[in-house]
Amino acid sequence: MTEPRKLYVKSFGCQMNVYDSRRMADTMAPEGYVETAAAEDADLIILNTCHIRERAAEKVYSELGRVRVMKDAAAAAGRNVVVAVAGCVAQAEGGEIIRRAPVVDLVFGPQSYHRLPELLARTARDGKAVDTEFPADDKFDQLAQPSAAAIRARGVSAFVTVQEGCDKFCTFCVVPYTRGAEVSRPAPKILAEIEHLAVAGVREITLIGQNVNAYHGDGPDGRTWTLPRLLARAAQIDGVGRLRYTTSHPRDMNDDLIAVHRDLPELMPQLHLPVQSGSDRILAAMNRHHTRADYLDIVRRLRQARPDLALTSDFIVGFPGETESDFAETLSLVADVGFSGSFSFKYSRRPGTPGAEMDDQVPEDVKSERLQRLQDVIDRQQETFNRSCVGKRFDVLFEKPGRHKGQIVGRSPYLQPVPVAAPQSLIGKIAPVIITEAVGNSLLGTLVQRPERTPETTPEREPALLCAGA
Ligand code: SF4
Repeated sequence: MTEPRKLYVKSFGCQMNVYDSRRMADTMAPEGYVETAAAEDADLIILNTCHIRERAAEKVYSELGRVRVMKDAAAAAGRNVVVAVAGCVAQAEGGEIIRRAPVVDLVFGPQSYHRLPELLARTARDGKAVDTEFPADDKFDQLAQPSAAAIRARGVSAFVTVQEGCDKFCTFCVVPYTRGAEVSRPAPKILAEIEHLAVAGVREITLIGQNVNAYHGDGPDGRTWTLPRLLARAAQIDGVGRLRYTTSHPRDMNDDLIAVHRDLPELMPQLHLPVQSGSDRILAAMNRHHTRADYLDIVRRLRQARPDLALTSDFIVGFPGETESDFAETLSLVADVGFSGSFSFKYSRRPGTPGAEMDDQVPEDVKSERLQRLQDVIDRQQETFNRSCVGKRFDVLFEKPGRHKGQIVGRSPYLQPVPVAAPQSLIGKIAPVIITEAVGNSLLGTLVQRPERTPETTPEREPALLCAGA
């Protein structure tokens, strides 16, 4: 029997990339590849890159320096290692990657990974290859479904891509260029994927997309389905106890979607809703097509629909032209909303985006100082939120053994890790826990002895958490 070959995939960036990396592993499984966590043992190394963060391309090149050392060591031992770069940096840089880093054998974009076996065969036959096309075929149709064992090994929560790409062209963002126009998968295919995951034991599904709430896929009834309809149908699938969706744009946060936060107990009371800035002037310069008042109104309506909803967001500080008074507007929006946590970054120029060409770029030291002030406020809000969870009873989805004997770890509805003393048999199940202490971002608690909630029963609604401004 031939030894299975080993595949190492390093995923950078967002959940979309984590999902894509898993699907790459699924695509290579029928070709005799098994995943390894040790890059130095791998026969195929894939770096699945992200272009959102600062100096994304430089980080990839420096990682490739480490990969080159591994490839040389393997060659000295008589073993050939194939190196591939995938994802958004691959899409943006194309063949330039091979010119700058000759260790790379294959470059392919986010729309090509279903062709991985064919691309690798081409690389073996003809030498280095680049594929950054936007093919007409639907990659999801070509992808192999993971086995039940592979799904179980990845845990009780899973991502399912429902939509890719973006037509919104925020002036700081490369996604519309690297991932292309908005495309939604047909609802029946998404639902079949969720059923497959649920049968294998997955209990929590996060629907993902660059603009997930712009979802508009073909429904089984021949009509166009939107995200609320898809969520409602997914909630009916046996075994699905929890649903989430990310990442959303405020422009697509309509009444129907707000209503499912009220009506669907399986939809967790946590929403990531990027706002980027609290200043209307900067929001307009970012081409966000919403105002500060629009955002605050959405938050108000969401909390009316689901009083225990916790919100997180993304912020960019130091966008070109941002004055101290614009930044003060961002701080005041944060105070008005009261987030349970957020991501914040300094603006950095992305080649090819309008923001990169704008005059009045903000000096680096000013950006750093503003970022620090914003992060201090966000950290305090997160601590306040976590402390406000103490004394509450949460349904926790248990994921894995804890670090201590007799302990298992799960996630609260707000995604905080919750380690408790409980039997391993609860892994993969949802059980109630009384929260006794907040330590950092984790919540400690005590298991409440009662049967697991089934997806058909309505969970108790907790009273509003102490989200400032709620
Ligand atoms: S909505 Fe804006 S930030 Fe989000 S992916 Fe599209 S262009 Fe980028």
